[in-house]
Amino acid sequence: MGKKIIVAGLGHGGIAAAAILASEGYDVTVYEQKKEGTLGYDWTDIFAPNALGIAGIPMPPEDKYEFKEDMTFYGPSERVGLRQHVPEDDLEIKMERRDIYDHLIRHAIGCGVKIEYETKVLSPEILGSRVVGIKTDKGTFYADLIIDACGLNSPVRTNLPDSFGIEKNPARHEKITIYRAFYNKACDDEVEAKFKVCLFKDNILGVSWVASEDDHTDVLIGRFNDFDIDEVKRFTQVLRESNPRIGTEIIRGGQFVEIPVRQPLSIMTTDGYAAIGDSAFMTVPIIGSGIANSLKAARILADTVIADKNGLFNCETLWPYQVNYYKTLGSGLAAIAAAKLMILKLTPEEADYAFDSGMINEDNITIGANFTNISALNTDLPDIITKAKLVCKNPSLLKKMPAVGARVSGAIGACAVIPKRYSPERVKAWKKLYEYAFKYDG
Ligand SMILES: Cc1cc2nc3c(=O)[nH]c(=O)nc-3n(C[C@H](O)[C@H](O)[C@H](O)COP(=O)(O)OP(=O)(O)OC[C@H]3O[C@@H](n4cnc5c(N)ncnc54)[C@H](O)[C@@H]3O)c2cc1C
Repeated sequence: MGKKIIVAGLGHGGIAAAAILASEGYDVTVYEQKKEGTLGYDWTDIFAPNALGIAGIPMPPEDKYEFKEDMTFYGPSERVGLRQHVPEDDLEIKMERRDIYDHLIRHAIGCGVKIEYETKVLSPEILGSRVVGIKTDKGTFYADLIIDACGLNSPVRTNLPDSFGIEKNPARHEKITIYRAFYNKACDDEVEAKFKVCLFKDNILGVSWVASEDDHTDVLIGRFNDFDIDEVKRFTQVLRESNPRIGTEIIRGGQFVEIPVRQPLSIMTTDGYAAIGDSAFMTVPIIGSGIANSLKAARILADTVIADKNGLFNCETLWPYQVNYYKTLGSGLAAIAAAKLMILKLTPEEADYAFDSGMINEDNITIGANFTNISALNTDLPDIITKAKLVCKNPSLLKKMPAVGARVSGAIGACAVIPKRYSPERVKAWKKLYEYAFKYDG
């Protein structure tokens, strides 16, 4: 029997890594708190289909997905709409979240993964400096490696001893609270754009979307602060003024959830432990997509585990997972996270100026399936010169913009010097440098 691996939580990256490892002969068990058949949310998600292939998972049946619509972006005043024009071969796919899970789970079980549902993970089981298992409401389970796929508020990550140096809870500005619901269609009015995304609507720091489907309207409200159902009702009424198709009856969803929107975790591994997916903050920091990155990370993690022929699964042997993650994805995501910190400082007037003046254009927002670094913003030297001239005409933006460049370069620079080999001192020094690049003064 191969080495024993536990996946805590049935996160997307965790189940994908489990499948690769089980097919290589490892003894893999996933512990998930929910009941079988109840995973995911009552809505659709969008992700890059090539991530499935990277994780060794076949494409889902064609009747289970469709290609995503181009989105149209607006500033707070909705004066100018910028429509994406994503090339066909870079389109993301849209699938019911439950079908995504169903597809991943079916594949994993076929590879030999065991799943224990209705088992709540409570904390890690620690012996000395090593994670040796998980405590759950059904008892303690031991393994040679624990893969933490419990998501943003993972009880494994957040209960690790401080001495492991692994960040526990993201700051408030590093996660976005989302309310999402599908409303009935109130009328057949023509819509100016089928999938509208609005920044700072109603002069509130956040993002919202209104997607007009044939039989319903999909409404998403995202904020960097807490809000309640009364605020949802008020804000939806504001949205109805320019989107009369939004009815008053909620037909699906209607739930608050949180997504990490920050740089990836500074330290993802320790002896006997590796974090993946939302538990390691792997989402694209501006848009919150995390499925594709989790699947891609699954391949990197599984390859690292397989390369550890002696099955030590310690700080040294798991470190290449983090290095390769940063090389392929993390560095680009960190740069986007740094840029996001500056977006949080924009006023609604500045955001409107960016849209109205042409500082942001349709090419810049044409972010396709693999939006994992700043270069995907489709800009070039003439475009940057145009932007610089427009910034110069706006004194308040002019004051803020140099800091954007400094922040993004700081984040990219920190990622570039990640130690290639593990040593406690070098990793500790790097963690300090990396975390400093994202220091936020509100
Ligand atoms: C409203 C919303 C919309 C989104 N839209 C998109 C999108 O369109 N495209 C995209 O790519 N991403 C999207 N995301 C982000 C995406 O859901 C995540 O980034 C992605 O699923 C990776 O997260 P994960 O699988 O690691 O964690 P999660 O999805 O949080 O899964 C964690 C799993 O662990 C289980 N778990 C948690 N705690 C315990 C416990 N104590 N014991 C046992 N099990 C536990 C949970 O039940 C869950 O099954 C969206 C997120 C939200 C909230």
